[in-house]
Amino acid sequence: MKIRELIKSFEPYKVVEGGYKIWLDKNENPFDLPPEIKEEIFEELRKTPFNRYPHITSMPLREAIAEFYELSPKNVAVGNGGDELLSYIIRIFDGDYIVTTPPTFGMYYFYAKLNGIPVVEVPLDENFTINGDMIAEKAKNASIVFIASPNNPTGNTQPKEEILKVLDTGTTVVIDEAYTEFSKKSYIDLLDKYENLIILRTFSKAFSLAGARVGYLLASEEVVDALYRIKSPFSISSLTMATAKVMLRHYDLVKERVNYIIKERKRVYNEFKDYAYPSEANFLLIRLDAYEFLLERGIVVRKLGGRLEGHIRVTIGKKEENDELIKALEGFIERF
Ligand code: PMP
Repeated sequence: MKIRELIKSFEPYKVVEGGYKIWLDKNENPFDLPPEIKEEIFEELRKTPFNRYPHITSMPLREAIAEFYELSPKNVAVGNGGDELLSYIIRIFDGDYIVTTPPTFGMYYFYAKLNGIPVVEVPLDENFTINGDMIAEKAKNASIVFIASPNNPTGNTQPKEEILKVLDTGTTVVIDEAYTEFSKKSYIDLLDKYENLIILRTFSKAFSLAGARVGYLLASEEVVDALYRIKSPFSISSLTMATAKVMLRHYDLVKERVNYIIKERKRVYNEFKDYAYPSEANFLLIRLDAYEFLLERGIVVRKLGGRLEGHIRVTIGKKEENDELIKALEGFIERF
């Protein structure tokens, strides 16, 4: 037996575990589903035959998502989290490399490396904005360009005029809108005009379903068709599909909680204006090297490196969690 060198060069994905009090490290929604919605899900699960495979291409959920956005199910693909979809779309298109805009989401790099695909980086400027002209230049020989809006870990959205410059190259562009509900901005309307646009979304954040693992993409029929040619069959369980379908019926609750989180985000931002960057997501990037200090006080946040060395990314939690975070960070600032 010989494990490939490439595989050995990967570090296992690690997250902090343990009995900490407050978890603000994974950009999760702080609110679990209310008991009455869980009951509704359990009712659906009671009707679900556990002995049968789920629909081979997840059509029941694709139809529900399509109805939600007034699209055709042929323009919708679902995955075991947005991550699974990324693992496939990175392999679909011809080209010499992918383009990313760091600092950004790490999974684009992970799947590129795993598939032996080179990465060309066009860094964000000092305001964390993309440069459409520079990306367009690199896009010519690229298979795909990844742009997260709002971006993780910086929290800002990207301007339409720059995005259009990239889309106009004709190269496939993934706009990763995992946090879109917290920005109330989306590029979905561009799908009509651009066959080369893929919008990636997830149920993990605004919809409170990180535990169910379900993401989706909206794209041209040609892209969705290509994806289902290579996607593992049955990869979305019938339990997950039933759960996500129920949550689509409760968008009012999703919006209510999104508004709560936006309000809390503004409150935390105002407390640390001198250190935090404006955010349109459910987290804040903060220029304070407070990771260990917070961990010692039972608060887990994300420590960043590289260009963002000395920064932390803090998920917006419930009011009482944010109060504790504010108190602890004020203590940190006083001390250092
Ligand atoms: N894109 C971005 C920018 C993210 O931050 C995440 C979650 N961390 C995802 C996609 C994928 O989320 P999931 O696999 O939970 O759907």
